[in-house]
Amino acid sequence: MLSIICIFVMEPKLTNSMLSADKYIRESISGIFSPREASQVSMMILEKICGLSRLDILMGRDSDIKEEHKSMIDAIIERLINNEPLQYILGDTMFMDMNFNVNCNVLIPRPETAELIGLIISENKKSDVSILDIGTGSGCIAISLARNIPDSHVTAFDISEGAIETASLNAKLNNVNIDFRKTDILHFSPSGYVDYFDIIVSNPPYITKSEMKGMENNVLDFEPHLALFVSDEDPLVFYYEIARHSLAMLKSGGRLYFEINCRFGKSTADMLEGMGYSEISVIKDMQGRDRMISATLVK
Ligand code: GLN
Repeated sequence: MLSIICIFVMEPKLTNSMLSADKYIRESISGIFSPREASQVSMMILEKICGLSRLDILMGRDSDIKEEHKSMIDAIIERLINNEPLQYILGDTMFMDMNFNVNCNVLIPRPETAELIGLIISENKKSDVSILDIGTGSGCIAISLARNIPDSHVTAFDISEGAIETASLNAKLNNVNIDFRKTDILHFSPSGYVDYFDIIVSNPPYITKSEMKGMENNVLDFEPHLALFVSDEDPLVFYYEIARHSLAMLKSGGRLYFEINCRFGKSTADMLEGMGYSEISVIKDMQGRDRMISATLVK
């Protein structure tokens, strides 16, 4: 009797079954994704693990997959149900039409960061510009700018060894040359870079610890807190230090770009004005929130 009950209570597994893998994945994750998201996630898993395309799935080729692939899919589903982001599980993600490796040392590139990159590209049509990205993480900003601004020379800093390794790999994968430096911007001397850069950009940590409460577990439990959080007492610490060093590192007429916490548009703009920057603009993201700031330094 007991064994009969167990059969009904046991979670179904893809292993040893002849189900449509797509249907199985979608049903297994229906509690955590909308049907539309579940279908996209399923397709990404089947493509990565089994090399199946959307057409293959439509043709029913997902009903006959290798046993080893089935157990890999079961393991992925378990991690998804445990809130781990798909990008970390699969190890990569698409961003700005490029593939980036991601892991627990780097944030998953966000759509708002693509907006910041778009802004920089649209405002800088000259070639031969020298660019610095501070807190590069996966390298998504540095690499996208190197790819989209012709003849640019890009330098990128990060405090994390793991991030520098990931970003270096991503630069190689996307065929760009970037000068990566392991650097702690809070303990930094700009002496090697005086009047050196046309553009300095940063998406530094900007979420205050008190904002943690409203955040999703998939971010809190898996993304690097080093890249996300600042204290409530000094939320602009990175902006202040970067803007201060940029006074030395930017050429005259050079531009500073930040991704910002939507709560701090005005205070960041006021701070930059007080430090001598001009043409300061606070720019909204697609959600209508203050998300970017740009400024010019005239020396
Ligand atoms: N935009 C990211 C998020 O909302 C935060 C990035 C950062 O702190 N720089 O999770």
